[in-house]
Amino acid sequence: MLTMSSSAKPSLSIDGDIRVKEPGHRKIAYFSMEIGLDENIPAYSGGLGVLAGDTVRSAADLGLPMVAVTLLYRKGYFQQHLSPEGVQSEEPAHWQVENFLAPLKKTVQVAVGPRTVEVGAWQYTITGQSGFQIPVLFLDTDLDVNTPIDRQLTGMLYGGDSHYRLSQEIILGIGGVRMLQSLGYTIDCYHMNEGHAALLTVGLAERLSVSVRRKPAIVDKVRSKCVFTTHTPVPAGHDRFDPALAGDLCQQYPLLNIFKAFDEDGSLNMTRLALSGSRYVNGVAKRHGEVSQVMFPDYKIGAITNGVHSQTWTSEPFRQLFSRYVPGWSEEPSTLRHALVIPPEEIWSAHVAAKNNLLAAVNQSVGAQLSPDIFTIGFARRATAYKRADVIFSDIERLRQIAKVYGGLQVIYAGKAHPKDEAGKHIIRRIFEMKQTLQPEVQIIYVPNYDIHWGRLITAGVDLWLNTPRRPLEASGTSGMKACHNGIPSLSILDGWWLEGCVDGTTGWALLEPKDSSDDSKDVDLAVGESIYESLEKKILPLYHGDRERWIWVMKNAIAINAAFFNTHRMLEQYTLKSYL
Ligand SMILES: *Cc1c(COP(=O)(O)O)cnc(C)c1O
Repeated sequence: MLTMSSSAKPSLSIDGDIRVKEPGHRKIAYFSMEIGLDENIPAYSGGLGVLAGDTVRSAADLGLPMVAVTLLYRKGYFQQHLSPEGVQSEEPAHWQVENFLAPLKKTVQVAVGPRTVEVGAWQYTITGQSGFQIPVLFLDTDLDVNTPIDRQLTGMLYGGDSHYRLSQEIILGIGGVRMLQSLGYTIDCYHMNEGHAALLTVGLAERLSVSVRRKPAIVDKVRSKCVFTTHTPVPAGHDRFDPALAGDLCQQYPLLNIFKAFDEDGSLNMTRLALSGSRYVNGVAKRHGEVSQVMFPDYKIGAITNGVHSQTWTSEPFRQLFSRYVPGWSEEPSTLRHALVIPPEEIWSAHVAAKNNLLAAVNQSVGAQLSPDIFTIGFARRATAYKRADVIFSDIERLRQIAKVYGGLQVIYAGKAHPKDEAGKHIIRRIFEMKQTLQPEVQIIYVPNYDIHWGRLITAGVDLWLNTPRRPLEASGTSGMKACHNGIPSLSILDGWWLEGCVDGTTGWALLEPKDSSDDSKDVDLAVGESIYESLEKKILPLYHGDRERWIWVMKNAIAINAAFFNTHRMLEQYTLKSYL
């Protein structure tokens, strides 16, 4: 369980706090297709969902009056099984909804194509550090009144085909707006976390069209209520639906046409719809904001760099340490800048404790024998081609040689490939192959079924966090932010957040590339591999093994410079000033 534990039934109320006395008034409605609230609720697939969970956790801590809306996936994302050869197979991730969520009585009706689907809701309640509560609504079509097919509509996260996906986005966007209204919420600002939620603009337009006649005036009104965060740095990544499918499924939503929602070929583009219906738009890191601005020159696109929820992603040994030297750090993570005063030996013993926790869990779960004395690299995130999990294997002999000189290397991997992502699955198999090839000098472990539980262990317990996305595809990246909360420096491509977080040699190290790697060549991958070896050989391993004092100084800077900034408390304060108000 996460420590920000939930209580299924809203119970607490704080006298004298107007925000809690009027539970129906919520300044912000945060819509997200996925959300990582608790390791036992499989409603997320990766960074987007974990960010959503961290966002509402910080909102609860800060007392920001928010309500979140997502879908109820009874089969979750999926459970990953890996054969001894690294072949991934998938099973539904069944979970006991009633154990975590409280059913709400209201239902609303939503048109999906020619049919009407009844939508219910369940509530999860997040309680912040000072007792403030935020409801998270899970929309559910698995109701007796619906046809068997419609009952499955909210069954799986990112499952099915584009028909299934667009149906889900209709439930989320239109159903979410109607459910909030039916539950009596009044909302000042609707926040779309990625384009999946963009149809909420149409839901709002419908409601406004009762009193506002002119179409441009309806769009203006919708825009005045909506903000949008885009997460995708390349055109191919945006959520699009072909004209026939969109025309069919959205046939009962003629107001979709008042927005500039369509590509030149007539496809429904959810990013365009969200852009057209929002008064403020941002990317999730400075560079990503710039890249998005070039893609969509007709709109002004700002940037608010992502963060992580500090309390959640700081391991127990570092929580205790921070509490002694930086009291109040979890309510105000910016104070972690003061971590520079912590004595080096105490940083080291907290790290050793976190590393032992990880290695014990790994050794037990996959039957390995990893040693705490060996330098350990972590690489855990969705298994997909652009993240290049295998780029460290571009020269196997070189890697073996480095490990020999420095008393061995351990690399801990984890990550699920989307069931249809063959390239991602191939990378997992390749890592398994390397496992055999590189023994005994390099010990490679692939931990199956990556989730928030393993995320917390791995990002806290390795010695170095490796990040090798192909530029500019990593809009932000967040797992290196989790690592720095535990004093773990990153070795990373200069993309996403690392462009802002890297002070080379001080908070971690930058991987060098010869040219813009967006041209996808093998040479670039080789050069990145070379840069990993150079960094390990010339900078990182000599420091780790030969100058422990200086190594710990880097660890402290990772905390004081990066954890103090790359957290969702800072991020939400920026959203409040730049976006919500
Ligand atoms: C943090 C996290 C991610 C995101 O990792 P990136 O480095 O941003 O790709 C994905 N999955 C889980 C389980 C996580 O905890």
